Amino acid sequence: MLCPFCRQSETKVIDSRTSEDFVIRRRRECLHLKCGRRFTTYEKIEETPLKVIKKDGSRVPFDRGKIRSGLEKACFKRPVSDEQIESVISAVEADIYQNFDREVHSRYIGERVFDMLRDVDQVAFVRFASVYREFKDVNDFVEELEPMLRETGRNR
Ligand SMILES: [Zn+2]
Repeated sequence: MLCPFCRQSETKVIDSRTSEDFVIRRRRECLHLKCGRRFTTYEKIEETPLKVIKKDGSRVPFDRGKIRSGLEKACFKRPVSDEQIESVISAVEADIYQNFDREVHSRYIGERVFDMLRDVDQVAFVRFASVYREFKDVNDFVEELEPMLRETGRNR
């Protein structure tokens, strides 16, 4: 940290406090004998936003709104409450932030939503799956759904 008066770099922090909005206010003193002036700095903590790696390799900022709109489409006219949708988003978000620092593949996000939606609503799950999983043919799709369909059959 350069002293703004004498441009010398030896300074000492004499007071430091965090205010709202993640701003740290520091009172500093120049250690240069002929200067010794005091000044204040404000340091803003930079939140490094998580990036999502898309299929084509491009990166976009993580946006929970996109998960929400995907879920809302999948849950259209289904008995799924807004709270349920919100809890899926929060769970997915928590999982992502716990496992990734900077970048996450969009496919991973899709998979997590997929896993959680399975327990919420099966029709929504199938809708979501058909969009997010790139099934090469119908057999892949059926194969994927089979364990779930078996489970449903057992319950009846
Ligand atoms: Zn100075």
